[in-house]
Amino acid sequence: MFAIFLTPSFILDLQDHELEAAISQAITLDQILTKRENYFAGTKLRSGDRLVNILIVPGHDDESTGAGYKGLREVDLNRELAQNLYTYLSKESGMNVVLASDNRGYSPIFKKYFVRDKKKIETFIIKSKKSFSRKMRNEEVGLGDTTAHNTATNDVVFKLYGINRWASTQKFDLVIHVHFNDYPGRAWNKPGDEVGFSIYTPGKFLENHEISKQFADSIFKELKKVRPVSTLETEKDGVIENHQLIALGSNQTLTAGSVLIEYGYIYEEIFSDPEYRSIAFDTLAYSTYSGIKKLLNEKPIEKKYEIISVTENKTTPNNLKWQYQKALAGMYPPLNKSLIDCPATGYFGECSRGVGK
Ligand SMILES: [Zn+2]
Repeated sequence: MFAIFLTPSFILDLQDHELEAAISQAITLDQILTKRENYFAGTKLRSGDRLVNILIVPGHDDESTGAGYKGLREVDLNRELAQNLYTYLSKESGMNVVLASDNRGYSPIFKKYFVRDKKKIETFIIKSKKSFSRKMRNEEVGLGDTTAHNTATNDVVFKLYGINRWASTQKFDLVIHVHFNDYPGRAWNKPGDEVGFSIYTPGKFLENHEISKQFADSIFKELKKVRPVSTLETEKDGVIENHQLIALGSNQTLTAGSVLIEYGYIYEEIFSDPEYRSIAFDTLAYSTYSGIKKLLNEKPIEKKYEIISVTENKTTPNNLKWQYQKALAGMYPPLNKSLIDCPATGYFGECSRGVGK
């Protein structure tokens, strides 16, 4: 599809002025809500004052593909889910949604940008790091959070900071990084023990902390209707603050509200079969979209599944749709059960009977 990368012209002809050493002046929720008011009032303002700009970044790329499990590459899952999210968001009016990559690789915007602005991005990284460590020294704070994430290679570091610089220069409001988790130390061909989702958000010493926290909390509320919260001890709160992840704007490199969502563990069974996965991803994308709409105090479009019939004691795609339908309505899992006890898998057994057809 060619429509994916159509970009309003203001993005392409925006002047590429030199940035300060580190970016400051984070976006606030009030600013975003004002844009929505301007948009709905039909005010003749610059597009930058009435469009909410949202960047979706599928984690990893074809050089560095992320986690893997039995032939599944994390990058492909990330791109598939991100594409679903793009579809929901791009139907909204007054939103400018950009997808950073899809199964053909980075969008032409970024392909060009990484080459054309190579030097500027490199300088930006050095200056931002210096300036942020000076700030931290002056305030005499230590950043305690060092959640284990795969250490990024030089090329990955360059691209992630590059995307931050781009999003900040273009005054993007919200940035979503889409990922799937892996459990360190599991046997390569066996699933790990942990399941569930988590959302990473910038720590409190970063200036985009507040908007990001509001953003994360809003998506968290929606996702937890359909996915269990991560069972990993360090992720059990669901929303986790972090100063080190470049995607979130480490070293003060991002003005936008940012979240990095780990939608699940790559070995979870629901993600292995393409048919079940596409139902699951559609629902996860919908919940993320709903979280964004609710952040803006707006009503998401209603999700309607076409369910022909459910089949008891069997695993079927229709059963899965039925479970998600009930979960979105707050009726699944049954009372006093969690999504760990009663995962939405498409199997119609005790858990589903407990809800009633
Ligand atoms: Zn990842």
